[in-house]
Amino acid sequence: MTLLRTDRIAKHFGGVHAVDQVSLTVEAGEFAALIGPNGAGKSTLFALIAGQLRADAGRVEFAGEDITGSEPVRHARRGIGRTFQTAAAFASMTVLQNAQLALAAHARRHVDPWRPLSRMHAEAARALLARVGLEAQGQRAATDLAYADVKRLELAIALAGAPRLLLMDEPTAGMAAGERMALMDLVTAVAAESGLTVLFTEHSMDVVFGYARRLLVMSRGELIADGAPDEVRALPAVQAAYFGEQ
Ligand code: ADP
Ligand code: MG
Repeated sequence: MTLLRTDRIAKHFGGVHAVDQVSLTVEAGEFAALIGPNGAGKSTLFALIAGQLRADAGRVEFAGEDITGSEPVRHARRGIGRTFQTAAAFASMTVLQNAQLALAAHARRHVDPWRPLSRMHAEAARALLARVGLEAQGQRAATDLAYADVKRLELAIALAGAPRLLLMDEPTAGMAAGERMALMDLVTAVAAESGLTVLFTEHSMDVVFGYARRLLVMSRGELIADGAPDEVRALPAVQAAYFGEQ
């Protein structure tokens, strides 16, 4: 089943064609990497898919529905979750409070303003933290977490919306090699157990080739390759985009 389809989606900033008529489809259950040099348009494409940016042209379909131009919250409700290149957790709150707040933000039910946060979604928040291996860290301030654990918390926050598609923008940026693998093992396990479809951007080639079962390559706003990792790696256009210009 096709979960995501973009049809000639485009976004420019002044004269820069950040995303230039990108058409792609992602099937349910895929675990794919979106790669490309800095400035290729990866983060902009994610923002178009997740609804943080409005496209200048083209369409985004999710689960067969046209969601082009709708508000980010509607994208989230339909099942698109994302993590960001920069930290999204609230540093001043505890890890558990971050998880509770994320669950509360996604709950469709009316939120009772008189009910203290400490009781809201407490059980579900603990379960969420357990899924990412943070069950023992719930009472710590988010600001005290090791960097690798901040990334786990961000994953938990994204999972709070029970997404069907998870977009992860450079999930392992700034991590040591061993931590990168541990995080991607976790994402792989969570995806398998929840039937989650994952599209992630990544610069580390050991992560890309170790985890992605499909590679999409962008360069200067365009999708220049799409296919099995080993086939894509051998393409002259990919070699040129990666090794020719930097
Ligand atoms: P990537 O994530 O692949 O590094 P981006 O999507 O961040 O690439 O950026 C693609 C291009 O669009 C770059 O040239 C970048 O400078 C430009 N760009 C991205 N966001 C903005 C913005 N908000 N305003 C102006 N230019 C932007
Ligand atoms: Mg980026």
